[in-house]
Amino acid sequence: MERKGLLLVLSGPSGAGKGAVCKELQINEPSIRLSVSATTRLPRRGEVEGVDYFFLDKELFKKMIQNGQLLEYAEVYDHYYGTPRRFVEESLGEGLDIILEIDIQGALQVKEKYPEAVLVFIAPPSKRELEKRLIIRGTDSQEVIGMRLQCAAGEMRLAGRYDYVVINDEVSKAVSKIRAILTAEKSRPGFFNSFLNIFN
Ligand code: 5GP
Repeated sequence: MERKGLLLVLSGPSGAGKGAVCKELQINEPSIRLSVSATTRLPRRGEVEGVDYFFLDKELFKKMIQNGQLLEYAEVYDHYYGTPRRFVEESLGEGLDIILEIDIQGALQVKEKYPEAVLVFIAPPSKRELEKRLIIRGTDSQEVIGMRLQCAAGEMRLAGRYDYVVINDEVSKAVSKIRAILTAEKSRPGFFNSFLNIFN
């Protein structure tokens, strides 16, 4: 049966646990493919080119924007991040499901271009828990943590523009909820290209 690929966009405030949710989701749903973003930020220790990100300088990133090679892009914490268009379009065309783990500005751009994309907002259980996670993660200074918490307050207000909200109090529970969302979305009539016509 022919079917389209599903474009799943996961976003939410920094520290909400998108990365962990995304990793576990891929283990549970091995057929889903993660889009690798381009960024102008430097690699963190252990990050691998082409696996975690495509690490580019600003000039190259701007060329990709000019050439229409990015599906969406945004400036997040002084660096550019963007989704390479080709991989996403080709994969969806082949009927494969794709996850984008991107920020909120990017997610809303995707929804404008692909109204059928499914936007899931990953929310932390509380502001206090978010702060705790950012401190434990140990990648940011106190000043940066303050900035991220301030941004989070604004981002939470945009959750209403998403299709679903998943509170990440425990990664495995959040992943189960996302899998239920995938099942429901794949049962929509619009998800099937031609199957519903075969009885004509
Ligand atoms: P980090 O530097 O911690 O890897 O990511 C910082 C933020 O950039 C996160 O919120 C992450 O979801 C977001 N991000 C990563 N890739 C993309 C992308 O391709 N587009 C957009 N708009 N945001 C991205």
